[in-house]
Amino acid sequence: MKVNEAMSPDATPTALLTHAFRLIHDADALLIAAGAGLGVASGLPDFRGPQGFWRHYPGLAAAGLNLREVATPATLLRQPELAWGFYGHRLRQYRATQPNPGFAHMHRWGQAKPQGWAVFTSNIDGQFQKAGFHQDDGPIQECHGSLHFLQCVRPCSDLIWPAHGFAPPVDEARCRLLGPLPRCPRCGALARPNIVMFDDLHWLDHRTQAQADALKAWRQALPRAGVVLEIGAGTAIPTVRAFSEGRVHEGWSLVRVNPDVKLLRTPRTVHLPMRASAFFEAMATPEVSNGAHKKLAPWTR
Ligand SMILES: [Zn+2]
Repeated sequence: MKVNEAMSPDATPTALLTHAFRLIHDADALLIAAGAGLGVASGLPDFRGPQGFWRHYPGLAAAGLNLREVATPATLLRQPELAWGFYGHRLRQYRATQPNPGFAHMHRWGQAKPQGWAVFTSNIDGQFQKAGFHQDDGPIQECHGSLHFLQCVRPCSDLIWPAHGFAPPVDEARCRLLGPLPRCPRCGALARPNIVMFDDLHWLDHRTQAQADALKAWRQALPRAGVVLEIGAGTAIPTVRAFSEGRVHEGWSLVRVNPDVKLLRTPRTVHLPMRASAFFEAMATPEVSNGAHKKLAPWTR
């Protein structure tokens, strides 16, 4: 377990957790920056390398296709049943998944802030909205788009439409869509998820851009910088980390939670080498919230 490896024997994790707790709770505004590691606590896969990916998609292992090869517009056009077998399965999985308890913690913290909350996420799973984060209460920027929305593959227009009318049956063993392919309502061409893929020249980004504008307007209206809570954002696709670090340069505090980071504490920054689930458990313990410097039993749980 990386948590133990990253900690020296005389580390005082409770002090760091208490510091993180105070940074989050003393701020007037909460900006949540989330990557794939947040979904792991809900039971969603965090594909780490081809082997991890193929364990979840044996049908793609048989075809010798990795994520980078499947998640492209070219594969979607060439092998639409296979590509939609993959995305259809993920759509069904996202719909069936219940957001983990961490979402409720973050929502409660954000709702209690005088300046409110915002979300920046690379996740395309729609889990924040499902957990009760409403666009009316705070801006949500899905920087890679959302699998719950579709667009034309060509595209023939700027139209982006919700995917909720599309419930794709999938042969999981073969990774094949069994029902009819989704179609553009304007021109009848193949429909695709409104997410940015690899080697993607045709993603319609105006929905995401409008979200980005709303989040920026929220930030610019704040009387002072708040705290960024960055959860489960790795370095493989560094969009979320780059976003957090941009805010640090603007004076925001940062609490970064990820199993891969090394312990770090400065007055306005703390890095915690933890999984999201362990972090939220720790934040709820009296040792942390009362600021008592006791050893925290469930640290590595
Ligand atoms: Zn079209």
